[in-house]
Amino acid sequence: MFRTRKKFGQHFLNSEQVLTAICHAILDERPKRCIEIGPGQGALTRYLLETDMQIHAVEIDQRLVPTLDKLVKKHSNFSYILQDVMMCDFSELDIQAPLSVVGNLPYEISTPLLFKLIEWRENIVSMVFLLQKEVVDRIVAPVGSRGYGRISVMLQYYFEVEGLQVVPPEAFSPPPKVMSQVVRLKPKQRQWVSHKSLSEFVKFLFAQQRKMLRQRFKPYLEEKDWQDLGLESSIRPAEIDIDSILKMLALLQKKGFFLADSE
Ligand code: SAM
Repeated sequence: MFRTRKKFGQHFLNSEQVLTAICHAILDERPKRCIEIGPGQGALTRYLLETDMQIHAVEIDQRLVPTLDKLVKKHSNFSYILQDVMMCDFSELDIQAPLSVVGNLPYEISTPLLFKLIEWRENIVSMVFLLQKEVVDRIVAPVGSRGYGRISVMLQYYFEVEGLQVVPPEAFSPPPKVMSQVVRLKPKQRQWVSHKSLSEFVKFLFAQQRKMLRQRFKPYLEEKDWQDLGLESSIRPAEIDIDSILKMLALLQKKGFFLADSE
């Protein structure tokens, strides 16, 4: 019997219904190729392989090699590498863009991985992940709501985000302690501002959630600037929408702040 490892977030899916739902969600964009992060024992992989997509997986746990090798032998549309996905240079994978990314993600790396994938978005047509529900709540949180923060702003700026099926612990083996949810992210087409500037600015903005922005930006913005931005003087980070964040960044940059090195 396979002994699951907590440090790799190994909660294997056992619900046919959830596996089918994830597969349908990814097929919506009709991708020809797909990267699966953390195939584990191949629960989701087997469903993905029933489509005509070419699947390339990234798995960290060496003990899963025999299982994954069997899949390679059986399916000409399957390949994988044994690597920590956080160290992976996606552009060096033997799979061509445009593609989709899918995974029942190990919860410990889900947020840093999503931030890593932002930088690779031009190659992606859609991403479907099963994540901790609390993380999905924050990803889709609208401005002014409790979960709205850095991850909401950064992902909603780059992607259309959509919370799909909520998945209870019983759908996994072993069951996690928390609820999970499927989320779909589709890259938006737009003129991007510098990623480095935006991510540094948003990090700064949400570092002190409770403080009024006027206090926070005292060294940089004057009374007239707030009027020009059309923002209330008492506004706090959780109340500022993405368009206003972009306007604020543009104004600050005009004044010489939050410029990335290369700009
Ligand atoms: N896809 C399988 C399923 O749904 O049953 C397994 C999902 S399990 C939640 C997460 C998988 O990601 C495990 O196979 C684990 O070994 C793998 N994993 C954990 N950390 C990883 C990392 N940093 N890079 C690549 N794979 C990782």
